[in-house]
Amino acid sequence: MTYIFNPPAVQSLAIRGNTKRFPINRLFFVGRNYHAHAVEMGRPVDKTVERPFYFTKAPQTLVESGSTIAYPPETNNYHFEMEMVVAIGKEGFRVSAENAHEIIYGYAAGLDMTRRDLQLVARDKGRPWDLGKDVEQSSVCTEIVPMQGQIIDQGQIALEVNGQTKQSSNVDKLIWNVREIIADLSLFYHLQPGDLIYTGTPEGVGAVVSGDKITGRVEGVAEVTLQISDAQ
Ligand code: MN
Repeated sequence: MTYIFNPPAVQSLAIRGNTKRFPINRLFFVGRNYHAHAVEMGRPVDKTVERPFYFTKAPQTLVESGSTIAYPPETNNYHFEMEMVVAIGKEGFRVSAENAHEIIYGYAAGLDMTRRDLQLVARDKGRPWDLGKDVEQSSVCTEIVPMQGQIIDQGQIALEVNGQTKQSSNVDKLIWNVREIIADLSLFYHLQPGDLIYTGTPEGVGAVVSGDKITGRVEGVAEVTLQISDAQ
């Protein structure tokens, strides 16, 4: 095949203990998946009558943990969201919750960076969230930690900005847990190896400014860092 210009590079992440890399297919994000965060966003969740919802970001928004990124354009309220990330290693369509572990390759620690001002305008006007969420360099992720076939259902999830704790919770507080997310999401999509699922953020989200250093972790998985520099 000959193209008129070079096609976009395949996005990928390092894999702990493996010299080969994990190629990225799609980036899925679960919205409002911790009760205290849903409440702080003014949209509490009643699991008995609601299903989870999702948004996606382009794989090109991926940035590796440890990076320095410029404060993004067209926002005055750029927020961190600390999340546990599930890495899919096998195809899965209409996967049952009981079998969900079978398609898991591993886990990572991630940040779902968000133009909160634009997301809330879009939400309140009934518009798509893309300008708030599908932000260049906004999908931060650590190396993938191989944990084939394993379900993580507890462990501290926490984030600090410049050493000050902003978020501290436990993945046992997920409204829809890893099994339930895979079962529900795979009703809509044929999940593929290389898909990442950001499972949602706990409460305590907030804004960053140029010069801030974010450090976050998922217990038993990994630590993610991000440095914010001046706007371009
Ligand atoms: Mn999020």
